[in-house]
This record gives sequence, structure tokens and C-alpha cells, in this order.
Amino acid sequence: MSQIEFTLENWEKCKCVTCPVQAENQCFLEKHEKTHEIMPKIKKTDMMESPEMFPGMYCVNGKTTCRNLDTKQICQCHSCPLWVEYDLLHDKPMRYYCRDGAAK
Ligand code: SF4
Ligand code: SF4
Repeated sequence: MSQIEFTLENWEKCKCVTCPVQAENQCFLEKHEKTHEIMPKIKKTDMMESPEMFPGMYCVNGKTTCRNLDTKQICQCHSCPLWVEYDLLHDKPMRYYCRDGAAK
């Protein structure tokens, strides 16, 4: 696949932050809160620090460090613009990157 860049523009397209697989997960919620707090600085400087801090874009960043994901829920990647743009349907793993690792 073409390498997806970890950029603010792409981050804003990612559906992971609203995905039911992690929406109720305390570890995710804490990371999301921190991301929210530093977002003004990120937007001002237009830089993305430490991708592992961001609870999303797992197709690029690989598995989440959070445990107890609710993987009975449906992965939302199919509704992500990057899914279509980068033809992720034909990569492996196919969706659930938070659980199974980055797309290759
Ligand atoms: S990779 Fe899929 S299952 Fe995991 S958080 Fe993102 S949208 Fe949800
Ligand atoms: S394909 Fe899935 S993991 Fe990748 S940016 Fe989109 S929603 Fe996030």
C-alpha cells in the first residue's frame, strides 16, 4: 500500500475516536482527553508529536497499548476516507488495526 502519513489532516479523517470498539474503554478515554488538551498546541505548530500518544490511526501506528477492547463491536474503518483513498480493503490485516496491527 502507499504509506499513509501520520498528519493532522489524516488524523481528523480517522474514525477510531468515535468507534464503539474503544469508545467505552477507560485507557482510550484518558488518551483521548490528553490529545484533546494538547490539540491547540498541535494545530498552532502544525506538528504531530509521538504518534503512540494518539488513540487512533492504528492502520499507521499499529496496535493500541490499551487492553480490553470491545472487539464484538464493528470496526468503523470502512467509513473512513483513508480506507478508500489507500485501498486498505486489500491489505492485511483488514480492519481492527487497533487489535491486529498496522496495515501492510
Ligand atoms: S481500527 Fe477499527 S476497530 Fe480499531 S478503533 Fe479504529 S475503527 Fe475501531
Ligand atoms: S482506516 Fe481505520 S485506523 Fe486507519 S485512519 Fe481510518 S479509521 Fe483510523
